Amino acid sequence: MAGGGLSGAACSLILAVLCLAALSGLRATGTLVPEARRVGRAVGGSGLDLYALRDTEIFLASSDLAGLLPNASAGQIAAWAPGGGIMMPTQAFLVKWDGGAFLVDAGWGWRQNGLLLESLALAGVAPGGIGAVLLTHLHADHAGGLERGGRAVFPEAVLYAHQAELDTWIDGPGVARLPEIHRRWVPPAQAALAPNRDRVRALEDSGGMGGSVPLPLPGADMAAVFWPMPSHTPGHVLYGLTCGGAKDAGVVTLCLFTGDLMVLPEIQLPRPRVSVLFDMDPEEAGASRLALLRDMACGPYRDKTLILGSHLPWPGAGRVEARGEGFIFRPVADPG
Ligand SMILES: [Zn+2]
Repeated sequence: MAGGGLSGAACSLILAVLCLAALSGLRATGTLVPEARRVGRAVGGSGLDLYALRDTEIFLASSDLAGLLPNASAGQIAAWAPGGGIMMPTQAFLVKWDGGAFLVDAGWGWRQNGLLLESLALAGVAPGGIGAVLLTHLHADHAGGLERGGRAVFPEAVLYAHQAELDTWIDGPGVARLPEIHRRWVPPAQAALAPNRDRVRALEDSGGMGGSVPLPLPGADMAAVFWPMPSHTPGHVLYGLTCGGAKDAGVVTLCLFTGDLMVLPEIQLPRPRVSVLFDMDPEEAGASRLALLRDMACGPYRDKTLILGSHLPWPGAGRVEARGEGFIFRPVADPG
């Protein structure tokens, strides 16, 4: 090729690498303090409480967003983040009842000075009291908190993940075939699971339609299910928790943990088709995001579904409503 110009693909790759480099160097903001916020409460037999646990907040400047949104122009990014960037929170969720407790995802852990353990303590639960961790996927901001110094952080927990996720990042033939840009997530995923391998359980997916999560739930009036949403990562899942007590009270029938359905909700709620660099199938991710948001905002269960997202504005739990071409998020009030 004559001349010194870079191809579009090369530019995208450079931006992506810059973005990854930037993300690896970011830290939780200095003023952040741990917090456990109760976001749901089932009245009835199980006495179930649902908490959001603060882990990190990372400020993504416009230059970071350019790397994360490789198909967006500088003008679009300036319009979408008029303040020069956006804050990306990460939270995990705790489900706690008289007989036990489990987590949905485990935050960044030490890689970003995550506050999950301090937040968990504020909810009155010790790491040894976590009986299970339901992993939406194995990116470092969801599984990183499972390990510290080569040791298991939740030594009693059974870890649930989709088989496709284990195949993608841990030990399947797909690990060697990963595109360069996604290969960076392999070492942290493998480090996170290494001290936990004997307690990892693959979710049994019934023909790609999902299934139940065989959680040990002594004394709990609830059931857990999962649905694959394999566009962010091949084994990314959503989890649903149905609560009999809550249903009787007519409050919440379903808690829907949406993982990375939205990574940058400030941008993606109004524009669901916009995918991020780490959506491994960006077209499908945009389509399923739009379909699911429509269902959550307009479907028959919209008033009885609590949505809990890893990167939604703190505390990450609430409801979505249709607004113009897109959607808005309304965080839940403290249930008291
Ligand atoms: Zn994430």
